[in-house]
Parts: sequence; C-alpha cells; structure tokens
Amino acid sequence: MTSSLTPPFLPDVIALEEKLEVPLYRKRSFALAHGQGARVWDIDGNSYIDCISGHGVAVVGHCHPQVVQAITYQAQELITCQESFANPARALFLSRLSQVMPPELSRFFLCNSGTEAVEAALKFARVATDRTEIIAATRAFHGRTMGALSATWRPQYRDAFQPLVPGFSHVPFNNIEALEKAVGENTAAVILEPVQGEGGVYPADPGYLKQVKEITHSQGALLILDEVQTGCGRTGHFLAAEHYQITPDIVCLAKGIGGGLPLGVVAVSEKIAAALAPGLHASTFGGNPLACAAGAAVLQIIEQEQLSPRAAHLGTWFVEEIKKLALPAVRDIRSLGLMIGLELRFRCAPYLTALEQQRVLALAAGPQVVRLLPPLVITQEELEQVLAALAIVLGEQK
Ligand SMILES: *Cc1c(COP(=O)(O)O)cnc(C)c1O
Repeated sequence: MTSSLTPPFLPDVIALEEKLEVPLYRKRSFALAHGQGARVWDIDGNSYIDCISGHGVAVVGHCHPQVVQAITYQAQELITCQESFANPARALFLSRLSQVMPPELSRFFLCNSGTEAVEAALKFARVATDRTEIIAATRAFHGRTMGALSATWRPQYRDAFQPLVPGFSHVPFNNIEALEKAVGENTAAVILEPVQGEGGVYPADPGYLKQVKEITHSQGALLILDEVQTGCGRTGHFLAAEHYQITPDIVCLAKGIGGGLPLGVVAVSEKIAAALAPGLHASTFGGNPLACAAGAAVLQIIEQEQLSPRAAHLGTWFVEEIKKLALPAVRDIRSLGLMIGLELRFRCAPYLTALEQQRVLALAAGPQVVRLLPPLVITQEELEQVLAALAIVLGEQK
C-alpha cells in the first residue's frame, strides 16, 4: 500500500537534503514518504516495520486516524494561540493529562520538545528550592540545549560546547551510596531517566528511585524524572515511575505525547507551581492548539486501546522470544515494556543496515546497543516478522 496522494517528489530528495542542511545527522540511504500504524514506506514504495518510531515518538503508530482527524479539525479552527488566551483544544488536552498523571502532579507547563521540558524543569527546580546545584547520572541523556546538555553525560555531546551551565555533577546510575554523598544543602534537584534510553537502555534497579526520592527529600531537594522517552505507556505503565511505585516532584514528557507534533510537558506539584509567577518562564509555541489537539487524541487512544498494558504484555512476550533464539551476537538484553535494548558483542552499525535489508528499522543506543522502540500498536504478527529478521541478522557475525 502506498499513499493515494502521491506528491510531486523532487528528483533527488536525499541529495538535496545532504546539500542544503548543515551536516549534523548521519542520514540513512532511503527517504520515508508514508506511514500507517507500525509501518513506514520509502519513496520507492518499499515498506518497513518501524521499530524506531521517530526515536520513540510514534507510540500510537503513524498517522493514527484519530490523530489525523483531530489535527485536521483543529487546523481549520485555530493553529496558533499564545498562552495569554485560553483555548478549547488546550483545555481538553490538559484535562485528559490530569486524569492520567499522578494526582500529586496537578499543574502543567506546555512546551515543544524534550529538551525544552527538561530546561523548564531545571529552572522550576532552582526557583522552587532557591538552590542552584543539579545532580544527574552517568550515561544520562536529557537533551541538547545548554541547560539540558549540562545534565547530559556523553562527552561527545558536551565537549565542543564548554563551558556549560555551572552547578551540574554526575553520579554513577543505580549507585545509591554515590548519590547520597553527592546530595547536599545546595542541591536543587536530582534528574534521572527511569530507564536510560540513549545511554543504552538501562532500567533503574527496583529500589533505586524510591531511595533517591527519600534522600532528595531528606535534604530539601527535588526529584525530576525525565520520562521523555519512557512516558506515554512505552514501558508498560503511562509513566515508568509507576513500576517503581514513586511519584517524583517533577515529570518531563515529550516524544510520544504529541503523536508526532512537537509537544512537551512539565508536570509539577501545587507546591512547585506556587513558586512560579507570570513572566518567569514562557514559550511562544508552547500549548499551541494544533499540538494540543494531537496530544488530546493521543491520550484518548492510549486509554481506548489500552496501550500501556499492551506494551507490557507484548514486551514481555517479545523479549522471551528473543531469548529463545539464543542469538550469538547478543551479549545482554535489557528492557521494560516495549523499550528494548540488545547489547551486542560487536558494533551495531552494520547490523542496523542488515536489518534495513530485512525491512526492519531499528536504532542504536551507543556503539553496541541495538534499540527497539516500536509503536505500541504494533501487532504480534509484525513482532514475529521482527523476530525473524533478528534471527537472520544477529544469528551471524558481521
Ligand atoms: C529524546 C530525549 C530528550 C530530548 O528530546 P528532544 O525532543 O529531542 O529535545 C530528553 N530526554 C530524554 C530521556 C530523551 O530520550
């Protein structure tokens, strides 16, 4: 199946992008034109099972009819509406959001991306505590703007941009003693991903986040969970925090929440909201009706199609099946729900290319981890096709 609306493609889409964009992205060898559910089609009409989902964005699948309908309607009503005016699409999104978030996190700031959500969370934590220091974890990824980048760990992302924001430090992930030593009277917040995504798919140990919360609170600091990648049902609950039975002080969401439109959310408690006032922070596009209409549809779909439990069931089944294959190239499998990392014994780049040839799209999380972030609407049949591709590609040494 290809799109019924075939646009007049320019003769060489790939060469044009390569020539006209700054060279920040390593581009794949084909261009994507169309998507439906867990499948995407390239401009030559080849179809792929998409276990990238735009880096975890397409949780409800590509072009879900309810998302398409919501943004088509909203595009005809009002596309831009700065936050100084209320808007029905935004109010609907916020009210649905408040129904799925923990009741303690009852206030929201809307923005346009993951890094913006993290940026706002860091600013809110500093204002609410009147402190300046932030503690993050080794392997952490929180985004690329200067504040979020200061919390991000990888030297390749940071070094060219020094000096970064002062007051940030990193402690080993899942090491409670190191964290206890690091948190002090100047700590505004500890920021963590419940499952480290870009860093290689490392879930927090069972008791870790609970202990982190106790330590931060005993020191008057806040706990920020960056659920940009883990949120929206990806790991088997709407928030990954639910696996760990904790409610953080601040949660960041983005990626899946906008169904493909740029949308970020910072959720905070009433107490933190009380430290904020008009003019302290803002965003021109934040809370725009088009993104909010998409977000409202996404939340409805997650609920209607029970995507969080679906991610839990499918993820458990799929990982068991991968284990049964006993793939010689795989050293370790780490996962929570449909957030899956296969640590290889070798560099993963050639395996990702080989998977493309089997019509499966996967992405890297560091040099040796193949990461799978399929849409949560993916069918068991499609996952069986992914298994067959993995068996072929990872069954041999590249
Ligand atoms: C992707 C990601 C970000 C950054 O999101 P952008 O929308 O690319 O700015 C931040 N934190 C985590 C955990 C992410 O996975």
